[in-house]
Amino acid sequence: MIPFLSLKDINAQYAEELKAAAAEVIDSGWYLMGKQLQAFEAELSDYIGCKYVVGTANGLDALRLIIRAYKEMGLFQEGDEIIVPANTYIASLLAITDNGLRPVLVEPDIQTYNLDFKQLESKITPRTKAIMVVHLYGQVCWSTELEELAEKYQLKIIEDNAQAIGAWWKDKKTGNLGDAAGFSFYPGKNLGALGDGGAVSTNDAKLAEIVRALGNYGSRKKYHNDYQGLNSRLDEIQAAFLRVKLRHTDEENKRRDEIAKLYLEHISTVNLILPFPQKTLTYDHPSHVWHLFVIRTQHRDKLQDHLRKHNIQTLIHYPVAPHQQKAYAGYFHTSLPVTEAMHCEVLSLPISPAMGDQEVEQVISTVNAF
Ligand SMILES: *Cc1c(COP(=O)(O)O)cnc(C)c1O
Repeated sequence: MIPFLSLKDINAQYAEELKAAAAEVIDSGWYLMGKQLQAFEAELSDYIGCKYVVGTANGLDALRLIIRAYKEMGLFQEGDEIIVPANTYIASLLAITDNGLRPVLVEPDIQTYNLDFKQLESKITPRTKAIMVVHLYGQVCWSTELEELAEKYQLKIIEDNAQAIGAWWKDKKTGNLGDAAGFSFYPGKNLGALGDGGAVSTNDAKLAEIVRALGNYGSRKKYHNDYQGLNSRLDEIQAAFLRVKLRHTDEENKRRDEIAKLYLEHISTVNLILPFPQKTLTYDHPSHVWHLFVIRTQHRDKLQDHLRKHNIQTLIHYPVAPHQQKAYAGYFHTSLPVTEAMHCEVLSLPISPAMGDQEVEQVISTVNAF
């Protein structure tokens, strides 16, 4: 059986280091807001080349807190609009609506599955305050046009970097491209904790300071509350695990890249569309870190059955678009044909950094036999 992603196999590679990290935290007697968090924040900010990193309880909170902080700064107000890709994971929208702002959905480019930049300008209204870019499936979503548009209309760019830690655009990494970024360390992400975790990155000192206060009950000084904040902190034990795993993120991304190259080179079935990575840079500067390897076919369900019968587990990212979810019933009438078609056709093949070449070959030959 080839599992979609075996977290056990991934973390087994670092078992000794992880156990030592856990023991250090247990023995320290200090479990929140301590040395591990401080060290992880410094190491992650070094890694992405960004001035400030603030740990949060999860990726959704990271995005929620960025928007909350802009509201506290007086830059966003309830009812304002944020442009967001229609085919993203629902968390991107939840961060917006939870703050009382309105997500304005934009269709993806059908080759990259990332925001179609050409459609952006027509979606901007006097109430538009930001564009949330999502580096979906691990592929950087950025362009000079996007920067110019944000400049022209004075919009913030918020990166949802839950899926693309380690990806680059020119000389910068994702998480350091926009005004602020949210990271997720959900166990299955490219940098996964052994539980929930997240972070905000930014070069804006004021924003970082407010995010930190908001995530700690709106408090800067114990028992003095400046905001109606929430409790969203990254535990010491998760920070300690993440410090171990961050040291291996580049080599894991490199293995993902090797597997993706094998799939791209050797999968050859008619009626099957392979990912179309933007001109890939080098191993040192990848524009795609292959969080997911997503193929598209009109025979998706049959292909998934075929793979299942041959003991290969696949997943669908995502089976239902956010605007078709019950949670967003108000958006049902929206017509987003590219997004809707994608959700019926996409299939994610296993692309775990712990996969061996034989398993990769087995996936390739089984897909090709379809
Ligand atoms: C995983 C994910 C999130 C949310 O992260 P959590 O840590 O699960 O809260 C947000 N956006 C995208 C695109 C994601 O993939």
